[in-house]
Amino acid sequence: MSQIIALTNQKGGVGKTTSAVNLAASLAALGRRVLLVDLDPQGHASMGSGIDKHTLETSVLDVLLEDTAAQQAIVRDLPAGYDVLPGNGDLTAAEVELLQLDERQSRLASALKALSDDYDVMLIDCPPSLNMLTVNALTAADGVLIPLQCEFYALEGLSALLDTIEQIKESINPTLEISGILRTMYDKRMSLTREVDSQLRGYFGDKLLKATIPRNVKLAEAPSHGLPVNHYARFSRGSQAYRVLAKEMLQRLAL
Ligand code: ADP
Ligand code: MG
Repeated sequence: MSQIIALTNQKGGVGKTTSAVNLAASLAALGRRVLLVDLDPQGHASMGSGIDKHTLETSVLDVLLEDTAAQQAIVRDLPAGYDVLPGNGDLTAAEVELLQLDERQSRLASALKALSDDYDVMLIDCPPSLNMLTVNALTAADGVLIPLQCEFYALEGLSALLDTIEQIKESINPTLEISGILRTMYDKRMSLTREVDSQLRGYFGDKLLKATIPRNVKLAEAPSHGLPVNHYARFSRGSQAYRVLAKEMLQRLAL
C-alpha cells in the first residue's frame, strides 16, 4: 500500500513544485519507490525531473479524461531516481472537461489506486488554485503537505484551503489529513519569520514540520538542468534540507 501526499497551496511561488521534486528525489535516495504526479498545467515538476513537457505522447491528462491506464503514461528510468506521471499545458483543458464527466472528483484517485503496489509514496504537485484538478488531488490523497513562506500574508488564503480540505473530508475522502506544514525560503534571523512561526505553531501545533527549507540558489538553478538538487548540487544547503525533510516525512508516515 502506498501513501499519497498532495502538495497544495493555492498561492503561487511558495515552493510547491520545488518541494515536490526534491522531496521525491530525497525519498528515492533513501530507497523508497516514488511516483511524482504533475497536476499543474505549467508542467514544471515534469521539466524539473528531466522530462520535455512539449513532446509528451501521453500525460496525466489522458489518464484523467480518456481512461488511459496511468502505467502507460508514466515516465521511468529518469536520472532523478523516481518515476513521473507528467503533465503540461494540455491540462488547462482538463479543468473544464472534467466538469462534464461522471465521477469527476475521483478520476485521479481511481487511476492511482491501480498503482498502489508499485510505489511506497506518490507525491502530487498541484496547480496554484483550488480548481477541479486540486479537488482530484485531495480526493486521491491520504495527506496534504502545505508549503508556505513565512511572510506577512502567509496565513491569508490558507483558510480557503483548509475549508476545501474540510469539504473534501466531509464529502468524499473522510480519512484525508494534513500531513505537515512546510516552511520554505526560511530565514529565522528575520523577526517577522519568528512572529509567523509562533502563529503557525499556535494554529497547527505539531503539524508544523521541524524541517525547514532555506533560501538556496542551487534549488532555483537545478530545474534548468532537469535535475533535482541532490543530483545537481548534492552538498548544498538546499539538498541537505530536503534530505532532512524526507527523513521527517518517513517517520511521520511510518514508511
Ligand atoms: P510553486 O510551485 O508554489 O509555484 P516553486 O517551487 O515553483 O513554487 O517556486 C517558485 C520560485 O522560487 C521558483 O523559481 C523556484 O526555483 C524558487 N524557489 C523555490 N524554493 C526556493 C528556495 N528554497 N530557495 C531559492 N529559490 C527557491
Ligand atoms: Mg508549482
